[in-house]
Amino acid sequence: MTEVYLTGCREYDAKEIVGKMMSGLSRLGIVSGALQGRRVLIKPNLLNASIPEKAVVTHPEFFRASVRLVKAWGGRPVMAESPAFQPLAKVMKKTGYDRVVNEEGCEVADPKDTAVLFWEGGETFKRFEISKAFFDADVVVNLPKLKTHGLTYLTGAVKNLFGLVYGLNKSQWHLRARSGEEFSGLLLDLYAALLHGFERPKTFIHMMDAVTGMEGEGPGISGVPKKIGALLVGQDALSVDAVAVRLVNLDMHRVHTLTLGQKRKLGTAALEDIQILGDRLDALEVLDYVPSKAAGDPSPVSRWPLNTNFFRDLLIERPVPSKDRCTLCYQCKAICPGGAIEKSNGRSPVPIYNYHKCIRCYCCMEICPEAAIRLKRGKLQWLFRTRAK
Ligand code: SF4
Ligand code: SF4
Repeated sequence: MTEVYLTGCREYDAKEIVGKMMSGLSRLGIVSGALQGRRVLIKPNLLNASIPEKAVVTHPEFFRASVRLVKAWGGRPVMAESPAFQPLAKVMKKTGYDRVVNEEGCEVADPKDTAVLFWEGGETFKRFEISKAFFDADVVVNLPKLKTHGLTYLTGAVKNLFGLVYGLNKSQWHLRARSGEEFSGLLLDLYAALLHGFERPKTFIHMMDAVTGMEGEGPGISGVPKKIGALLVGQDALSVDAVAVRLVNLDMHRVHTLTLGQKRKLGTAALEDIQILGDRLDALEVLDYVPSKAAGDPSPVSRWPLNTNFFRDLLIERPVPSKDRCTLCYQCKAICPGGAIEKSNGRSPVPIYNYHKCIRCYCCMEICPEAAIRLKRGKLQWLFRTRAK
């Protein structure tokens, strides 16, 4: 049985929100000592440069409340986020985050400062280039916004952590994992790596901004702000998302991060196994919340004209083994989830790669004992100015 704290919260009043966050944490058994002297990474949703009233981003006053809470409990807050397309400075200015970080005194991690996280236990993807600030953190405070999503149906706690991936590298992941289900599987691989990929596991706290959420064609400005009037706190991202989905009466079965996540034992998504603390769910539930019409398979991304093998080859680095270093040990073949590597036919000094099957997970590169695999840029990659490490 996991626990999620749910409480009514109708206004973006930082003082009131801090109190509710603290109540939630203490109901979950998390006391101030959990943050004392710790480096606490705060991860809001800063998808793009839009005013807070559009409900695209985690509201700046909600973020302010989290910074105050961390400081009040003796932690050292650092915000980490990498917007999808625009520079972080521009997004922070438009959303009002620059004012909040200055007023509250919160460090901001450079989104370009990244490191590679490799975790063997991922189902498909095992290698992620994410914010280095995550490596340095003891505690992760995840601040998702409750929004619809055209690909994954819900933007919640699991999905919000995808923002740790650097900017435009995110679009490359959409080329690797195309359907809503594949992409949700990727999100879960990342979530699993964040949970289990460190010798000293991080403490996770998810606090969802559902004061004003978004309905319709989210998660960007095509969506419509929707008053929900709630705040959720939990330590299991799946449980928080499951309660959020129930709160706004979305179809749980369409949220692959929940159905697959439960199967992969990454958390608890079954409501009967979640104890809701705080306010009664039926007192806060929203019955007229509008889901995204676009969500479901085939996804908008899979329909995207550039999303083909042909364009993937042009837009994402391909792994290429070097004949000078390769010893034909075939560890790359053994780990390849795409079945894209064949043994040499005798004429090739290196394994044979089938780039139509290659999903660009770079596990081969990570595992190669000879550092024999290099990345070759796609011919049109300059359009995106992206890179893998
Ligand atoms: S793992 Fe490296 S050395 Fe071994 S076959 Fe693959 S490329 Fe060659
Ligand atoms: S060839 Fe390498 S990058 Fe491509 S799918 Fe296989 S392991 Fe991943």
